[in-house]
Amino acid sequence: MDHKGRLKSLQAGFDRNSLDALLVTHLPNIRYLCGFTGTSGILAIHQTGSVFFTDGRYSEQARTEVQGAQVVIARKPPLAAAAEWLAKNRNKVGKKLRRLGIESEHLTVAARSQLSSHLRSDFRLRETQGLVERARMVKDADEIALLRSAAVFGASLFDRALEVIRPGVTENEVAAEMEYAARRGGAEQMSFPTIIAAGKRSALPHGRASAVAIPSRGFVVCDFGVILTGYCSDRTRTVHVGRPTSEARRVYEAVREAQAAAIEVVKPGVSVSDVDRAARNILKQRGLGRHFTHSTGHGVGLEIHEPPRIASGQKELLCPGMVITIEPGVYIAGSGGVRIEDMVVVKQGGCEVLAPTNKELITI
Ligand code: ZN
Ligand code: ZN
Repeated sequence: MDHKGRLKSLQAGFDRNSLDALLVTHLPNIRYLCGFTGTSGILAIHQTGSVFFTDGRYSEQARTEVQGAQVVIARKPPLAAAAEWLAKNRNKVGKKLRRLGIESEHLTVAARSQLSSHLRSDFRLRETQGLVERARMVKDADEIALLRSAAVFGASLFDRALEVIRPGVTENEVAAEMEYAARRGGAEQMSFPTIIAAGKRSALPHGRASAVAIPSRGFVVCDFGVILTGYCSDRTRTVHVGRPTSEARRVYEAVREAQAAAIEVVKPGVSVSDVDRAARNILKQRGLGRHFTHSTGHGVGLEIHEPPRIASGQKELLCPGMVITIEPGVYIAGSGGVRIEDMVVVKQGGCEVLAPTNKELITI
């Protein structure tokens, strides 16, 4: 779907959400809806059209990128300009504009009061949550192609990691080599700070690469991703330096099995909590359930973490076109940890793993 189509389908939902207009302030949502990739802008979507406000630094960029919305280069902060425009044009955009949706998860308290003072009492600000994010959950064919490219390219960085991971090399050095290869290969940036967690640090689920040297024996968790053409990749592989103990092998195999079991149940109509349960059950059966301390996965797209959350208690049902991660892990404090993560696309009757590989334990 092109940007116009995305804007139209959002407008079509205004009545259902009791809105006359929506002020989009979250940059990834703005990018999704009108194509603008800069860092300053506000998109006002009303009943009969859309207006994008930015400042002078982005005049050229906005004119080439923005689709489906009128562009206004404001001499004042875009939020103030948008508020003034709405106040001035409230009688010219379909039925009288009264209920203005704001993205409550992405608007600061200061910005909200600024908005209220510009709009005064003629408007009712309505807090919306995840309205655009809901639309973004299901990817179209173009987005899936971009996510596939990002996943394939992101996966190639692990080959670089395997060349550098050795006892005595620091986690930072491994991350640096991967990130250098990423930029050289065309990545806009990493999709999050690279996680290289070696030895005992592998028991930290979010062990960002540090100045610590890789010990002579133990797991190394590598969690990494790139942004390519706006879309994020996310992948985790765990290797073992030195000879693994039989317990280390057992833990690794349990995580590998848990991930396979979760991927196996992914298909349209299945609840995200069932996917989480599939992974969790395997780890419970192996006596490792209490060491699996996070959810099984998340949506990925323009942002590294997007809805849906693949977790217990979540009610979302999988649909064709969702792109999610499946990433169970086991973390044993003082000892080490294992995580294996892939991105999958939900398809009719099942799912496709992006950039699949054999996941047998690699020892270095
Ligand atoms: Zn992830
Ligand atoms: Zn990850």
